[in-house]
Amino acid sequence: MIEAESTELQINQSVDLKPYNSLAISAVAEYFCSVQNISQLESALAFANNNNLILTPIGGGSNLVIASDLTGLVLHIDLKGIEIISSDKETINIRFAAGENWHSSVTYCLENGCYGLENLALIPGDMGAAPIQNIGAYGVELCDFVHSVEVIERATGNLKRLSCDDCQFGYRTSVFKQTAKDSYVITAVTLTLNKTPKVNIDYPSLQTSLETDNPSPADIYQAVCHIRHSKLPDPQDIPNVGSFFKNPIVNKDVADTLAQNHPELPIYAYSPSQSKLAAAWLIEHCGFKGCRKGDVGVHDKQALVLVNYQGDGAAVLALAEEIKSVVLQTFAVELQVEPRIYGNLT
Ligand SMILES: Cc1cc2nc3c(=O)[nH]c(=O)nc-3n(C[C@H](O)[C@H](O)[C@H](O)COP(=O)(O)OP(=O)(O)OC[C@H]3O[C@@H](n4cnc5c(N)ncnc54)[C@H](O)[C@@H]3O)c2cc1C
Repeated sequence: MIEAESTELQINQSVDLKPYNSLAISAVAEYFCSVQNISQLESALAFANNNNLILTPIGGGSNLVIASDLTGLVLHIDLKGIEIISSDKETINIRFAAGENWHSSVTYCLENGCYGLENLALIPGDMGAAPIQNIGAYGVELCDFVHSVEVIERATGNLKRLSCDDCQFGYRTSVFKQTAKDSYVITAVTLTLNKTPKVNIDYPSLQTSLETDNPSPADIYQAVCHIRHSKLPDPQDIPNVGSFFKNPIVNKDVADTLAQNHPELPIYAYSPSQSKLAAAWLIEHCGFKGCRKGDVGVHDKQALVLVNYQGDGAAVLALAEEIKSVVLQTFAVELQVEPRIYGNLT
């Protein structure tokens, strides 16, 4: 017997929002609900629209810095399901509901002979958030595999399917962070994966940690998990949002001047006229790596990661301000924040 989907919503007032791995230790959402199907999502959107509430969709909560009250409705997207849509000789299209855990999805694909996502193993969070900042790691980005993204338009409740081009993916950005910021709730992502292994080992630290010259996708998955475990603090133990700053993209002439003055600064080609600078190097060379300021600090193995020992979102933002300002004074380079901030940061 197929049970009818429940459309009943549990909307609670003043529920403590404590995403498992965010910095939002003491945040309180004015309204909170978790939706398991599209009908519930539609009801939640109607509730927010009818009551003029700000809507904050969340997945795993791993990329939120909350330093102010969260007014309005915090909507946990808990839609589940993995479905094969189509396949040909070379590729397979798999649709993942937005609430599927990212790393579990990577593992599922590898175990089922669908390749490409291995370099993105262990990135925290859920599928629905992955397109927002076009998650990337170790030389691979989500956009390399996106077939389409299903959304529900917040203002109208209309369901839409966006193509990879529609999503306007870029380095840690997409249409969802730009012109369509706060316009949609993502409900599912369809990825096109390879049926035969195609590995990407261009990233230097990945190359050096592989024990073979001819790695399989499983070797890459394991190497990436190993590097991440050894370098990044587990948000369950020490709250953090991963990289706090993006690697700055600058014009080539700016990069050339920096290279002359600081020959050790890692600089990567980005486009014919732009280069990407290693933000971690800039932060480290301003003396912040491993520093502790009260209850917050910078991780001792990765200068891009701000850690929250026992502080709050405001303390993290104060440290982020200080880092931005010193990097600007020292290198004349402006750092941009990667996670979503609820609070004030200039
Ligand atoms: C230790 C650590 C390591 C990390 N490493 C990487 C890395 O290597 N590469 C990388 O790219 N990122 C990395 N991140 C960042 C993070 O994993 C990604 O940003 C991830 O996509 C966040 O997923 P989430 O479900 O937790 O999103 P959340 O934190 O819940 O939300 C993030 C943003 O997406 C929005 N959002 C979430 N779900 C939806 C939805 N269904 N529809 C519309 N909007 C939505 C939220 O409103 C918010 O603006 C790291 C984070 C941590 C803590």
